[in-house]
Order: sequence, then C-alpha cells, then structure tokens
Amino acid sequence: MSRRDVDLADLVGRARSADPRAVARLISLVESDSPLLRQVAAAITPHAGHAQVVGLTGAPGVGKSTSTSALVGALRAADKRVGVLAVDPSSPFSGGALLGDRVRMQEHAGDPGVFIRSMASRGQLGGLSAAVPQALRVLDAAGCDVVLIETVGVGQAELEIASLADTTLLVLAPGFGDGIQAAKAGIIEIADVFVVNKADRDGATQLARDLRHTQSLGGRTAAEGAWRPPIVKTVAARGEGVADVLAAVEQHRAWLTSSGELARRRQARAAAEIEAIALGTVRRRFAGVHGSSALAAAAARVVAAETDPYTAADELVASL
Ligand code: GDP
Repeated sequence: MSRRDVDLADLVGRARSADPRAVARLISLVESDSPLLRQVAAAITPHAGHAQVVGLTGAPGVGKSTSTSALVGALRAADKRVGVLAVDPSSPFSGGALLGDRVRMQEHAGDPGVFIRSMASRGQLGGLSAAVPQALRVLDAAGCDVVLIETVGVGQAELEIASLADTTLLVLAPGFGDGIQAAKAGIIEIADVFVVNKADRDGATQLARDLRHTQSLGGRTAAEGAWRPPIVKTVAARGEGVADVLAAVEQHRAWLTSSGELARRRQARAAAEIEAIALGTVRRRFAGVHGSSALAAAAARVVAAETDPYTAADELVASL
C-alpha cells in the first residue's frame, strides 16, 4: 500500500479495536516521520490520555527485559491491555525484526492484549525524542491501559524516557554498580520506584541497604508530602516480587493524582513535545527557505564586515 492509499480513518478505527497490524502501521507512520504524521496525530489524540505510562531503565544486564515480560504477565492476569515499547537508542534497527531476538518477550507474542514494539533512533529524523511520544500516543489511543517503555541501551535516552513516563522504575542488580554510582550518574533522581532485581543473588540486600542510605542523604524526599521512592526486591526470572512492583506503581499513581503531580508532569511533557516539534519546524524551514544560498550570502557579508553575525541571524529568522 502506498502512502497515498492509506485510509487513516479506517486505520485508526481498526487500531482502536485492537487490530495489531493497524497499530503497527500507525507506529510505522509516526516513526518514519511520514507526511501523514500530522493527520495521524490529529486522528489519535482525541482517543489518547488514558494509558498509564511506566518506564523501565537501568544498566544492561540488570534484568529490565525479564522484568518487563514479568510485568506484562502480571498485568495481563489482571486483564489489562498492555503496550511495550523497547527503545534502543544505539541501534539502527526498528520495527518488529529485532523482537525476534528478545526471546523473553516471545511468550506474549501471540497475545492479542499485548502490543510489543521495538524502536531504534539512530540515524532517524527527529530521533528518539520525536518518535517515542507519538508511538506512545498510538498505543494509548489503541486502548492500552498500561504502556511499558523499556530502554535497551544506555545514556541520555534514559532521561528522555523518564520524562515520558508517569512512573519510572530504576532497575538495579547486585554486581551492576552500586547505588552511589547511580547517584553520581544522576540516574537515581529520576527513579520513582527502585527495583533491586536478582534478589536471589548475593549482594541484593546490601544493594538495597546502600540505596536506602543514599536516599537518606538526598534532598528530594525531605519535603513534606514528597514521594519517597520505595525499594522493591524482585527475582524477575521467577516472577517473584512483581506483584510488589505493581503495587508500588499503583501507590505512586495515587500519589501523582492526589498531589497534582500527574497533571504537572503531563503538562511539562506536552510543552516539551510542542517545543521540540516547533524547533524542528523552524530548523527545517530555515534550511528549506533559505537553503545554503541565503546563508552563504549572509556569511559573505559578515566576512566582508558589511554586517555582524547577530544582525544577519536576526534577518534570517525574521524572514522565516
Ligand atoms: P536487561 O539487559 O536489563 O534487559 O536484562 P535481561 O532481562 O536481558 O537479563 C539479563 C540476564 O539476567 C538474563 O540472563 C536473565 O535471565 C538474568 N536474570 C533476569 N532476572 C534475574 C533474576 O531475578 N535473577 C537472576 N539470577 N538472573 C536474572
């Protein structure tokens, strides 16, 4: 089907009745920065805003993927519809292909109540920060009660993902750096719930203790009524503690709602998204309208000392 042939209303209708192929197609459209992107956004936005968004972050190997799969199982048992976005900012591969490798997700592959999607951003127009919120919105509009966003890679993406989530789970495990290291990396600040996975291994109790200590030094929880991130121990590989994680997520959700923080976070998230889109548009327009010739002409005038770079920049911006 070519781009022109896409019947958007039909596609959105089918996505809303949980047709996995329609959901996948919509995500592909928003991910590829398709010319239909704006229409897709307009069509799905009225149906979005209901999903609870939970981010999972942490170092590779701590058990995020195993935890995600266990959470999906528990949420399905509670009859929730679940979306999973596995985000790998270091990989150039997007779409379904990569999921073949994510063996731990395969047990949910045939479940019509679960949508799983991997997203990669390397080399992609607009990058992760542009595509993930749109994919999230598609899953939301498709009726997912919960969307789990799991970061596969490491780095800046963790912070970006946390900014998209209502609740961020920081998954740690013994032998993967202690709480102090996480604190240094600034990662600890984004955690709403600490998940100490691999509790079947030596060092898990110590890790939890270190975390609690680090927490007692931090300022974030000092204020009255502030959320104090709980520390939950799990053995994700055996599903142990997963119910406790979900209970902590629910408690956080209740706190978000009662404190007004949920509304504040969603407002900030929408503002960031609009800003990113607007700046992207300005950048594209700048490149398109002026092309290299107007910029080259302005540069020549600056070199010839006929104008200064601020005046030249103001003139270019004003003519957008
Ligand atoms: P990710 O890279 O953070 O997504 O980690 P994975 O979910 O791929 O898990 C990394 C490895 O840890 C795998 O071999 C898992 O089987 C193993 N693993 C996950 N959870 C546990 C656990 O609770 N206990 C133990 N001992 N191993 C686990």
